[in-house]
Amino acid sequence: MTTALTDEQITRHLRRANGVAERAMAMGRHPFGALLLAPDGETVLAEQGNIDTVNHAESTLARSAAANYPGAYLAQCTLVTTFEPCAMCAGTIYWAGIGRVLYGAQESALLALTGDHPENPTLALPCREVFARGQRPVAVIGPVPELEEAMTAPHRGFWQRLRGRL
Ligand SMILES: [Zn+2]
Repeated sequence: MTTALTDEQITRHLRRANGVAERAMAMGRHPFGALLLAPDGETVLAEQGNIDTVNHAESTLARSAAANYPGAYLAQCTLVTTFEPCAMCAGTIYWAGIGRVLYGAQESALLALTGDHPENPTLALPCREVFARGQRPVAVIGPVPELEEAMTAPHRGFWQRLRGRL
């Protein structure tokens, strides 16, 4: 079982994940960020920003978590991410055995910003639907509407700038 997160922890962890997203953007990558929380819901075990279109922050972090921690431990851990994980990432989180996901903004809020950008052809499949097909439970917290503004901030303008480069 995972430890219940307080509103303060939810806000603080999501803001830290957003800082990871901003760092990824500063390195020329897409502004997405994720954290892995220990079973105490407080200790940050790892941070990961977006790498590329098949190495999203969440899938990369989930693979590294599975390589470094036993499943029984990861079942009590939480993956924190700025945006709702896509189907690829939700699948990897599931196979890594991570027990809980906390995300800030919904995938649909991102689609509104990326539009039909060829570097982010959003895969519209809610993570809860992916997890519902599994054999073990993955708890989901999100979206957190009061943080949507903060989570989408790095994306505002980013996709338009990218479009200008095409
Ligand atoms: Zn993804």
